[in-house]
Amino acid sequence: GAVTSTMNYQQVLEQIAEEIARTPGRGRSADYIPALATRDPRAFGMAVAELDGTVHGVGEWREAFSAQSITKVFTLALDLAHEGDELWEHVGREPSGNPFNSLVQLEYENGIPRNPFINAGALVVTDRLHTRTGDAAGELLRLLRAESGNPDLGFDLAVAGSEAARGDRNAALGHFMASYGNIDNPVPLLLDQYFRQCSVTASCADLALAATLLARHGVRADGTRLLTRSQAKQVNAVMLTCGTYDAAGEFAHRVGLPGKSGVGGGIIAVVPGRCALCVWSPGLDERGNSVAGVAALDLFTTLTGLSVF
Ligand code: GLN
Repeated sequence: GAVTSTMNYQQVLEQIAEEIARTPGRGRSADYIPALATRDPRAFGMAVAELDGTVHGVGEWREAFSAQSITKVFTLALDLAHEGDELWEHVGREPSGNPFNSLVQLEYENGIPRNPFINAGALVVTDRLHTRTGDAAGELLRLLRAESGNPDLGFDLAVAGSEAARGDRNAALGHFMASYGNIDNPVPLLLDQYFRQCSVTASCADLALAATLLARHGVRADGTRLLTRSQAKQVNAVMLTCGTYDAAGEFAHRVGLPGKSGVGGGIIAVVPGRCALCVWSPGLDERGNSVAGVAALDLFTTLTGLSVF
């Protein structure tokens, strides 16, 4: 179909769901914590939110799942709103080409992570947001509740606890960067904030609505501005180049939209000026991106002709 001014999103979503249902083999659910390992890798939901808050959905689009690294987009937005360009002296904006939890580049780059979406960079962002607000995870939750219009959206403290129990790698990242002076808060306190951040539980509908913040170039659902247009561009650009880690090139090639994945199986994507999407399917590929999620977004841009290109 060609781009029309009145896109039938519901019809497109149903076509995508049918196609996905026919696809065998859809990756494996993350298995580093029990709450993720027990999710059915073949579960599937997808939502499109228009700029005025109208939401269309298919499959399990109202089912809550673990947002995980999708939250990194919103802590980045909040920290940029607080401190602006100073952030970019502490975290870069280049794709890493390495797995999301990698330590290897930090030593060569003086404790400055490559970008805000690998774990090291997200820890820096959360640290700085915490210094500025005294409650990074709480600020994140308030933003997501307001933008999704869902006051019940919350943390899953069992997930946060499991993250902490399996948190050696993130602790190592935090301490290593602290040794270069790139972390302000005590590392255990930062990790507590970060694990709660990762444990946010939300549905495709919630996260698609929240992501319309970036489709509206930084304007919130209530019409007030969180980000300058230029900052919203910065967030979308880093999503495009770094949002799916060492598969960001492949994601841009197939989908052609700024996107951000999480190991819970969710992916958000932004069509600037138009709409935002969230897809969820827990089966992941070896880089930690949802297999059916990427396939569904690929179908969406192919069927609608909507992409940033
Ligand atoms: N909680 C996960 C971690 O820090 C988040 C990673 C992700 O979603 N890619 O390892």
